[in-house]
Amino acid sequence: MNDTAAGAAGATADGFAALYGARPEGVWAAPGRVNLIGEYTDFNDGFVMPLALPHTTVVAVSRRSDGLLRLHSADTRQGIVQLEIAGLRPRSEAGGWAAYPAGVVWALREAGHEVGGADIHVTSSVPTGAGLSSSAALEVATAAALDDLYGLGLSPAGAAVLAQRAENEFVGVPCGVMDQMASACCTEGHALYLDTRDLTQRQVPFDLAAQGLRLLVVDTRVKHELGDGAYAERRAGCEAGARALGVRALRDVPYAELPAALARLEAAGQPENVVRYVRHVVSEDARVERVIELLEAGGTRATGEILLAGHASLRDDLRVSCAELDLAVEASAAAGALGARMTGGGFGGSAVVLVESGDVERVTKAVESAFAEAGHTAPRIFEATPSKGAHRVA
Ligand code: ADP
Ligand code: MG
Repeated sequence: MNDTAAGAAGATADGFAALYGARPEGVWAAPGRVNLIGEYTDFNDGFVMPLALPHTTVVAVSRRSDGLLRLHSADTRQGIVQLEIAGLRPRSEAGGWAAYPAGVVWALREAGHEVGGADIHVTSSVPTGAGLSSSAALEVATAAALDDLYGLGLSPAGAAVLAQRAENEFVGVPCGVMDQMASACCTEGHALYLDTRDLTQRQVPFDLAAQGLRLLVVDTRVKHELGDGAYAERRAGCEAGARALGVRALRDVPYAELPAALARLEAAGQPENVVRYVRHVVSEDARVERVIELLEAGGTRATGEILLAGHASLRDDLRVSCAELDLAVEASAAAGALGARMTGGGFGGSAVVLVESGDVERVTKAVESAFAEAGHTAPRIFEATPSKGAHRVA
């Protein structure tokens, strides 16, 4: 454990003691993530490649024997939220933050795990709503704590799937499984290659520092309202495309057959947006596979071009980018970055930028001045060191 992790664990345990009047039984952490490549592929049974951030959500937890769940987060102004676990019902939490951890308890119990009550206190260094998956970090940290305390014997992937179910069904957000898998399963110095159909995974070496490289995250600090409806619309469009092509999911369209598939969609009178979405998803799956080949062959620098192509596809075909994300990518590339792309759902949130170590300052300054000149809110720029997934810290 490094000093920061120890500090966060201690502070979270102290916060717990001040709130609940006793030391917690333990403290667990789960990270936020960025996705290196493979965007809008996870609901198409496709491939993704996230890495865990050094930023974590930390939960201090003790069991209770009276069936009560008490929840508190240092990041909200709300006091302690008290719920009865036997009375937990999907979408009953009126959208409040407590639905995320309560949803995990609900999902565990739905899956037949004997989870009783708990006192939980949360702190986090994962920026919320920045496309860095603070929601998955919160769910996965909660699941890790309850798994250990109640001796459930979950695998990291098993915990991730239940956390996704919590977010889908209890909170009511139709997210794919990537974020929770990243937060649960990533390892230091690696990106996680994940097949979202069968959840097979591979740790792909991504030790940037050893190669004189850095991955920057540009958090644009904007979130355009469009987001939620657009996500559902893209998802429906992809499903329509798969149906029209007679495949279970777009992942089943081989890249070599993309031109023929697009021609078939056009001939069948499918709307042009469906054609664009299919082109994005099928080419994005191919980009993930290409990036893996390059990383495994030590060709990390050459992935930059693929990141740029991925961004263009998200911007032009899927149309989920925005002015701030496009500017982050363009300004980085103009200042000498090897590659850059928006990451996450888009319409704001964050971009990732691959740079030579010696160019970090130049690229950072270039993005900052481009944002200032355009009159955008100043972005938050930091380094993404590939970090480890959920773990016990105390
Ligand atoms: P993202 O996952 O990209 O950060 P989401 O909208 O999916 O954005 O999730 C953000 C929501 O998750 C917050 O609005 C809040 O309800 C909940 N959340 C995440 N982290 C915390 C935290 N540390 N404390 C309380 N709520 C949190
Ligand atoms: Mg989220």
